Amino acid sequence: MSEFEKERERQIAERLREMPKSQRANYLKAQEGKSRCAAMKAKCLDCMGYKIEEVRQCTDLACSHYLYRPYQNGHKNETDDQDGQKGGQCDE
Ligand code: SF4
Repeated sequence: MSEFEKERERQIAERLREMPKSQRANYLKAQEGKSRCAAMKAKCLDCMGYKIEEVRQCTDLACSHYLYRPYQNGHKNETDDQDGQKGGQCDE
């Protein structure tokens, strides 16, 4: 394993420890390169301290993720569909 890969693993493990357990599967899906929607969701939740309501009410209209952020349609449980984006605008 290269030094880059070791450092990446270390940082991912650290991030996993910091987030709610409920968000870890989505985050790992993104880190495995399996879903751009998962990556978008993980980024928005990280950005807003894992508070769904804060993502929904995001006021950073200039953010490149704004139109794609999850939770725009009022769903709280967004982990039960194919790509974990029920209610979101991601269209990968
Ligand atoms: S859209 Fe809002 S919540 Fe998502 S990354 Fe941008 S600023 Fe953060």
